[in-house]
Amino acid sequence: MCVSLASDRGLLLDPIAPGVYGRLPIFERVLAGLSEAISNLDPSAHPEVLRFPPVIARQTILRAGYFESFPHLLGTIHAFSEHEPAEAPSDLVVTPAACYAVYPHATGRVPVEGRLFDVESWCFRQEPSDDPERMRAFRMREFVNIGSAERVHGWRKEWIPRVQQFLARLGLQSSLALANDPFFGAGARFLAMSQREQELKFELSVEVRAGATAACISCNYHLDHFGTAFDIRTENGEPAHTACVAFGLERLALGLFAAHGALVEKWPDQSLRLLGLSRAQC
Ligand code: AMP
Ligand code: ZN
Repeated sequence: MCVSLASDRGLLLDPIAPGVYGRLPIFERVLAGLSEAISNLDPSAHPEVLRFPPVIARQTILRAGYFESFPHLLGTIHAFSEHEPAEAPSDLVVTPAACYAVYPHATGRVPVEGRLFDVESWCFRQEPSDDPERMRAFRMREFVNIGSAERVHGWRKEWIPRVQQFLARLGLQSSLALANDPFFGAGARFLAMSQREQELKFELSVEVRAGATAACISCNYHLDHFGTAFDIRTENGEPAHTACVAFGLERLALGLFAAHGALVEKWPDQSLRLLGLSRAQC
């Protein structure tokens, strides 16, 4: 099974529940290096940096429309109450993507220059698999831009070559493709088609283990979906547009191990430098 590949290499423990992995120190060190390198990707930007826990208000996820679009991926939290010896749905769900946590905090007017956030969160998606790159719990780092349609669309456009270069500098061969989210239910095909027609989602994929590639970064334009849902407005009172660039930290780390091998001290100089790792540390 491919999972033991990752554990043989001393990266991840074989899961007890599918898709839930213990991480070994070298894997975490690479992940921390990636996180730092991502912070330095656009030195001219000064984002509002926020970190969130792996749970989020059910109300936020309802407002975002996630229950209609992706109920099959959502994990919800049930809890016992003080008086009832039965589990009941709580006011929390497990965070499905890091950027959702930002929108309720951005309600109101955004300045002309827009707002830029840097967020990271553990995320959960109910997609059990034996493939180590398809985890149920993983970390997502995101830059989220909020503002006018023109600025936000332009910002997402700028980020595509930036992340392509980032992967190249890490020594990863990537491919860029138009993509769609895995919508649920009867309207899924139509929603996926319209997302593609409007070129709302691009994904960069890398090899994550021999013979398998997976998306490690997505660049998403949401039009005014979240602006409308969370009452976020531009200077002139229109619903703001939003976009996000999302990095799957575990998939990026798996990509590095797949490209450069299990021994980090043998990785190319440029990759180590970018990750802030020295050979002595590895
Ligand atoms: P998405 O919101 O689906 O575009 O996800 C953003 C990024 O999170 C993806 O490009 C992946 O790198 C990462 N990701 C999504 N789902 C998983 C998963 N099941 N396991 C590991 N990483 C994931
Ligand atoms: Zn996002």
